Amino acid sequence: MGEPKPPIPAGEERVTIESEHLAAIVRSSDDAILSKDRSAIIRSWNEAAERLYGYTSEEVVGQSVSILIPPERQGEELEIVARIVAGERVEHYETVRVRKDGTRVAVSLTASPIHDARGEVVGVSTQARDISLARMAKDRLMGAFEGAPVGIAVFSVEPGAFGRLHQVNAEMTRLLGYTEEELAAVSPGELTHPDDAARETVLIEELAGGKRSSYGIEKRSRHKDGRWIWVWLTVSLLETEDPPRSAVAHMLDISERKAAETELELARANLERSNAELDQFAYVASHDLKEPLILLSAYARMLGERHGDSLDEEGLTFLGHVRDEAARMKAMIDDLLDYSRLQTRAEEASTVDLAEVLDTALTTLAPRIEESQARVDVEGSLPSVEGSPAQFERLFRNLISNALKFRSDDPPVIAVSAEREDGAWIISLRDNGIGIDPAKAGRIFEVFHRLHSQEQYAGTGMGLAISKRIVERHGGRIWVEPAEGGGSVFKFALLA
Ligand code: ADP
Repeated sequence: MGEPKPPIPAGEERVTIESEHLAAIVRSSDDAILSKDRSAIIRSWNEAAERLYGYTSEEVVGQSVSILIPPERQGEELEIVARIVAGERVEHYETVRVRKDGTRVAVSLTASPIHDARGEVVGVSTQARDISLARMAKDRLMGAFEGAPVGIAVFSVEPGAFGRLHQVNAEMTRLLGYTEEELAAVSPGELTHPDDAARETVLIEELAGGKRSSYGIEKRSRHKDGRWIWVWLTVSLLETEDPPRSAVAHMLDISERKAAETELELARANLERSNAELDQFAYVASHDLKEPLILLSAYARMLGERHGDSLDEEGLTFLGHVRDEAARMKAMIDDLLDYSRLQTRAEEASTVDLAEVLDTALTTLAPRIEESQARVDVEGSLPSVEGSPAQFERLFRNLISNALKFRSDDPPVIAVSAEREDGAWIISLRDNGIGIDPAKAGRIFEVFHRLHSQEQYAGTGMGLAISKRIVERHGGRIWVEPAEGGGSVFKFALLA
């Protein structure tokens, strides 16, 4: 059994105890609590008021409450008193007050009447809460909202509809050309291009149906002047509400990027078309040139066979030149045909084991390798890549046969290696040949471009052009660097 409860005091004693308790609550409250009479003279003042405003109760009790009010807001307290006397409620009234040191503080006021024994309102007690931190946070947020370089809008989400715009920032009004009030009156759906609306309606329905919490879309929005502008729009539900009823949209003007993309796409299509035309031209021209060339060779051969006896030495030399040049022209035409075919008759891509296709190239070149007493070393392993096996075999064949052809006096030594760099494979073919003047190295990949005469080194000047096209068709690039100690390193990079 517990202690017997002390008897509950009654009458005057009880009123006194209650008043003391209430006074203690007021004293220790975190809110600044003050009371004033009907003429706004301060009558009581708690410790929190002292902390908030900086005045002690001795300093303010008996003074008019106007000492707490900024000059431009004088009259506000009298109005609050009048409203309370008239029986109105004043709650969370946000305003500004002045401290003893002259600084201002944002407060939220709640006022209540003080009645006398007859029920007459004789004064008003005011509770004030410092909201400067909350206000500052809100102001900062509003500043960020208003000053954001992207259009921001808060709008309602309703199933099957675009909803209504509640709040938009300055950039949104600038982007769309409407004022805030005008935007509040339109549905975002009306500002969406008909060709994009269906796509977005699906997304909005998923958003409203809880299937997704955000989406992003590239679409055209209508400017007030009737223009359609390309925008990147992201919409996210405001998860602070349950269930979410509003969403926030961020809108970025991407018309310039879109225009650039369209231009680029056009340029790419044009380039592709003119490249195809050029290839077609090269193909037709070389094909058609072959016929007279074959006849030319045949007549030169017949001239030699049937009338060789009646030609003097000079005549025979000239005839030899005619045959050689016809043969060279045939080689050039064949290479040109191959070059144009690389584009027009591309086989399907498959996985290419570069070590395997290098082997095939070496087998084809074996007699020349042996004849020149060359050595070909593979340093480390070679990767597999996606592409055309025949074209990679051709690439290795071209590069190795150049290394054999443009050799120095030493027996050719060719090293093939692969390394990974920034998500790409770099394949290198190093030789100890005559080397290439770096100033001229850029042009050797051009069609028919050669650095030597036919007498010095025979060739069509197509090998590296074909090699370049093969590498580029596989999304890579090719270049040459001088090798340490003489010679050249041909390198090509392919995406790994
Ligand atoms: P071609 O071999 O028929 O002359 P390419 O297009 O293969 O044509 O080469 C173009 C030119 O680049 C060659 O004429 C030569 O001057 C130079 N070149 C190519 N490969 C090498 C190499 N490995 N070393 C030195 N020079 C080279």
